[in-house]
Amino acid sequence: MKDFKDIEYNPKSYWETMNEEEKKKVMEFSKDYIDFMNAGKTEREVVEHIVDIVKNVGYEDFDEIIKQGKKLVPGQKIYSVSNEKALILAVIGESGPEKGFSMIGSHVDAPRLDFKPLPLYEDSSFALAKTHYYGGIKKYQWVAIPLAMHGVVVKNDGTKVRIRIGDKEDDPVFTISDLLPHLSQEQLKKEASNFIPGENLNVFLGSMPLKMDEDSKETNLIKKNILRYLYDNYGIREMDFATAEIEVVPAFKAKDVGLDLSLVGAYAQDDRICAYTSLRAILEIEKSEKTCICYFSDKEEIGSVGITGARSNHFETFIYELCYALTNDSNPLIARRALKASKMLSADVTAGFDPTFPEVSDKTNATYLGKGVSIAKYTGARGKSGASDANPEFVAEFTSILNKENIPWQIGEMGKIDLGGGGTIAQYMADIGIEVLDCGPGVLSMHSPFEITSKADIYGCYKAYKCFYENI
Ligand code: MN
Ligand code: MN
Repeated sequence: MKDFKDIEYNPKSYWETMNEEEKKKVMEFSKDYIDFMNAGKTEREVVEHIVDIVKNVGYEDFDEIIKQGKKLVPGQKIYSVSNEKALILAVIGESGPEKGFSMIGSHVDAPRLDFKPLPLYEDSSFALAKTHYYGGIKKYQWVAIPLAMHGVVVKNDGTKVRIRIGDKEDDPVFTISDLLPHLSQEQLKKEASNFIPGENLNVFLGSMPLKMDEDSKETNLIKKNILRYLYDNYGIREMDFATAEIEVVPAFKAKDVGLDLSLVGAYAQDDRICAYTSLRAILEIEKSEKTCICYFSDKEEIGSVGITGARSNHFETFIYELCYALTNDSNPLIARRALKASKMLSADVTAGFDPTFPEVSDKTNATYLGKGVSIAKYTGARGKSGASDANPEFVAEFTSILNKENIPWQIGEMGKIDLGGGGTIAQYMADIGIEVLDCGPGVLSMHSPFEITSKADIYGCYKAYKCFYENI
């Protein structure tokens, strides 16, 4: 033995190992990623954007194929949308369902503030909108920053109005007020988790009253002015908010961070970084032995619930339909066996080691930004509660191909054991019989309006996902 190089775990900085050509690829890839992050800020917009991309390169609507009773053939590419908010892509492979499928599953929802069903009100010369936060946020991070409004309003006649205000250069933005330090003595004594109560997350919409005749008895003229604007510009009335889905998200754009341009700062990198990198990976699959599947789920941030969440049967039904379209045989055992033979990467981010908060990480089991994709054998909280805890056989199968292809990887836990924890879609995929492993990049400031990732990891993640599709 010459040295310990081959026997000691010591992941290198991906930056240090790459040549100029590779570095250029990393930078170009990240530029595309930043464009992707700016193109859609809600799960609906992201799903729509991905569908546009894949339709352009020949993906066909699986629902149409099912309706026409057509059989699928190797090389064919399909997509399946659920309620405009979750999406599955597949590239049909040469082998049948009995060999199982190669799957990667991410989520496209992100923490945000949703409009309440009856959001609009007027108070003390302002028109405001009440919100209800979605996912795990630190409420204080959402005040005194520019916000945008994205969503859909479904009118009574069934027509859908899209709202997207705050992203364009000449758009107005919205904001939530915070207390001035001069008068914050009491506020700052409170615990950080409640010094901004949920009911304080009220978005400023306007302050100008509607001009009425002098003898008019109308009140709430500032709110009415906003209602008039909404009616004139979007044809929506106050009651239409009851049938709307409006999300308040950060208005600023995804950006390069650092003088060396090595980092990306953006809203919702958890988990659109994995959505984008897995999308890019499957887009490069033209022919493969096994059928490759790319799943973009919704509602992960609130427990993968609901009809578009990973616990719904959207994914499972897709597999059943896929097996039928591949074999013309509706025996449910075919799909069960396919699921059992399938392998999946649960593509989700993990906590990166933050030098400002070293005390929350176990340094020896942490994920470091810039050292490539991070494998999480298990997630969960306390005694691994809520984890799917992958089998070492599967971890070894995956890491051996990463090693063979010279793709940097690291392995870690999400912070110190007793400090908290988190889950992914992994356990729900395991529930239906799929062998699954969590794998994604590290993120700093996770769930904040401006999350930080390393460009080396963005590219490294894409390479790892592509390698998975090509080899597992
Ligand atoms: Mn996530
Ligand atoms: Mn999350």
